Amino acid sequence: MRINIAKSSGFCFGVRRAINMSRELASSGKSVYVLGDIVHNSFVVRELKEKGIKKIGKIRPVKNAILIIRAHGASRKTFRKARSCGYTIVDATCPKVKDIYKIARNLEKKNKIIIIGDYNHDEVKGIEGQLRKKPIIIESPESLPFQKLKHMAKAAVITQSTQSIENIENIMDKLKRIIPDARLYNTTCKTTRIKQEEIKSLPKENDLVLIIGSKTSANTKRLYQISKGINKNTKWIESAKNLQKMWLKNIERIGIMAGASTPDRITHEVVDKLQKLARK
Ligand code: SF4
Repeated sequence: MRINIAKSSGFCFGVRRAINMSRELASSGKSVYVLGDIVHNSFVVRELKEKGIKKIGKIRPVKNAILIIRAHGASRKTFRKARSCGYTIVDATCPKVKDIYKIARNLEKKNKIIIIGDYNHDEVKGIEGQLRKKPIIIESPESLPFQKLKHMAKAAVITQSTQSIENIENIMDKLKRIIPDARLYNTTCKTTRIKQEEIKSLPKENDLVLIIGSKTSANTKRLYQISKGINKNTKWIESAKNLQKMWLKNIERIGIMAGASTPDRITHEVVDKLQKLARK
């Protein structure tokens, strides 16, 4: 049995940066909070909790505390509220996400903004929270809000950093039939594009594909969907615990791709367990 780990498997730059910033703060002896999950991975969230970083759902007044803004960013309102409640902010928003903020704010001056992204995703909410007017969010080609779009002559379309190229193209095809001057400003990040490119070949070259990442991770979900579309024998697991020996029957090559917020440690544990299962 051969195990092939994708070159782009695991942490992206933005996630690694946010985790390193958090680890440093955890050892500073200060009172440190994070609003929501620092990144969408339960193992990372647990590790930081054990190091003393407290997760909060709402911002309430505090004294002498630090608030980390997660890799996916946050709205301007969140920043204002945190400052007014007494937090010192450490902004771990991925610089690539901040680039999207700038692009969105510039485009908003002359355009209605449409975001191709997941309705409830933190990054999408963060982008929305940079704008003066409410953007239209479109998740899939099936969910185009025709009534809102039908009178629009033009629009600027930006994308959540982890969107799949196929989803963007399919939405744009439909959108252009309603708004002829709908212009796409593809704001997917380079890491996402590299991962999505690699996940198109991995399922063709392997009998079984394992996608590793938390169920809350948008980029992991996208990797799973693309791989499953090419090779039905694709499994989405969170850790080695989810592996089943029966999956390895008649399997010679296993491809592995971990989502952008999955630690390498989890991938190594999966590989170790696969090797043990194969020997049994
Ligand atoms: S996927 Fe891209 S934009 Fe999102 S955190 Fe990673 S590097 Fe940043």
